[in-house]
Amino acid sequence: MTEASGWRHQPVTAHPVSRLRCPECNWLQLVATAGGPPVTECPWCWWSGVEAEPGGAFAALTCPAHGPVLVVIPEAGNEGGGISPDDFADLCCPHCRQPAG
Ligand SMILES: [Zn+2]
Ligand SMILES: [Zn+2]
Repeated sequence: MTEASGWRHQPVTAHPVSRLRCPECNWLQLVATAGGPPVTECPWCWWSGVEAEPGGAFAALTCPAHGPVLVVIPEAGNEGGGISPDDFADLCCPHCRQPAG
């Protein structure tokens, strides 16, 4: 390994996002549960049997100044587009640029 520049950081722990449009309440929703099972329920109106599809990925960070921050990249991956949890690198706080803790 000759990555001397150090620009490639240790990946943060990221997780997939599920995207659904509920047939009952019709809200487009993104569900971000770390390590969660498949999404089958509408969290808004409690409709059962919703069908979720890949909706990108997210990672949580904790800023020393701003506390918990959730970064969601809602670009679903197919054929080279989009993002997977493996693509995440170190994140900075989007409010003050401090490194994630
Ligand atoms: Zn609903
Ligand atoms: Zn911050």
